Amino acid sequence: MGAHEECGVFGVVGNVNPAIAREVCYGLYALQHRGQESCGIVVNDDGVFISHKDRGLVGEVFSENELHALPGGRMAIGHVRYGTTGGSSRSNIQPMVVAHQKGNLALAHNGNLTNSLELRDRLELSGAIFHSTSDTETICYMITRERLRSASIEEAVLRAMRSLRGAYSLVMMSATKLLALRDPMGFRPLCYGKREDGSFVIASESCALDAVGASFERDLEPGEMLVFSADAPGAEPLSYREHCGGASSPCIFEYIYFARPDSVIDGISVHEARVRAGRILAREFPAEADVVAGVPDSGLSAAIGYAAESGIPYEIGLVKNKYVGRSFIAPSQGERSDTVRIKLSPVHSVLAGKRVVLIDDSIVRGTTSRRIISLLREAGAREIHLRISSPPFRHPCYYGVDIDSEEHLIASRHTAAEIADMIGADSLGFLPLESLEEMSGCRAFCSACFDGRYPGGVPADPRKDRFERRLSEGKLSGAGGR
Ligand code: SF4
Repeated sequence: MGAHEECGVFGVVGNVNPAIAREVCYGLYALQHRGQESCGIVVNDDGVFISHKDRGLVGEVFSENELHALPGGRMAIGHVRYGTTGGSSRSNIQPMVVAHQKGNLALAHNGNLTNSLELRDRLELSGAIFHSTSDTETICYMITRERLRSASIEEAVLRAMRSLRGAYSLVMMSATKLLALRDPMGFRPLCYGKREDGSFVIASESCALDAVGASFERDLEPGEMLVFSADAPGAEPLSYREHCGGASSPCIFEYIYFARPDSVIDGISVHEARVRAGRILAREFPAEADVVAGVPDSGLSAAIGYAAESGIPYEIGLVKNKYVGRSFIAPSQGERSDTVRIKLSPVHSVLAGKRVVLIDDSIVRGTTSRRIISLLREAGAREIHLRISSPPFRHPCYYGVDIDSEEHLIASRHTAAEIADMIGADSLGFLPLESLEEMSGCRAFCSACFDGRYPGGVPADPRKDRFERRLSEGKLSGAGGR
């Protein structure tokens, strides 16, 4: 797998809670799959923002000492982040906290603006000085500028949204309010829930609501902003919908790969969507085989679906070492290969002498697939029929997912038969593009990395080149790690 996670956002608001930082920490644990580079928590202690953030996994950054050092409060937000090399500087770690003329603002962002360069240029030409390379700081600036001429923070945010393009799911805090909002196209998920003590929880995925005992209330609509008041704990949030109602395009890849299978996004179970993908693959690309196995974790649900539809027994063919980071963390090609072997172990008794249908979620460069297939061969698999629960990756993403550039995407240059040959599979089948609707149950969605149709536009030429160049130079980065 070579598409990198985006980010995860989380927030809690309610009565004064001495353990609020710990609860945000639990939420971030549940969202760790969305970003493993850095994380942070900001607690609102009666209008004073106290934060701790650093590089590392949630468990590394938040020891008992760090959690004890954070105060209690009525509101807190947190963030887990993935970032590329250049975009991973300490100044980009979130949540971001800014002080402005009318108070403080803390903000956590999942997504990627497509017009961040234009906005940043405009702001810099009017005197703004940036401290990070992240588009999240651009969002902070846009909001705080609007705040100067707005009667309230919610009015300022709604005005700023008129200028923002691209993907942004945000959780933010002022001194007395917690705001959650989703961009008008709904690229990235965001939902909220309620706990028995009356507090509300906002999270990128519903699995993080479960982690802190909150019952799911609903997803935010694309374009919707919810405002929770710390002065009225337990009161239902106010919903602002002036940016709702346009064409929406949630990211289809959340269902295929990013989200956890126990999450439900926009009313659709991620696990069920993956099972359907497996069933479709079994119908479209049947194989004469003895066992079906999935590449953990995101290939497992689809493998169950393939087995159920085909009648071929499902088996655990690969075991994942949960204590090893994901393969893309390795900085060099050589190290990546080693990590695949350390991370995944074949179950010899299942594979030896068998014809295997192997299900994985995607192929990016082909390097990881080749390594996995070679592991199965070493374990004695007689035939390997690889089935991929997504269409071929052919295009980059501008909405918060770090997908390799086009020249590195193996499917942008080769047919399925050629790829099968290159990675050593006996056959290869991708989920058909036209099956994405059946797989997800969504009627409208973004699938631009597969079909090149960008529903939210792309950074305008010639700035597109400059956008990509600055990304690669690490001079700009999205909260999604671009
Ligand atoms: Fe998701 Fe792909 Fe669209 Fe990016 S381009 S938002 S990864 S479907």
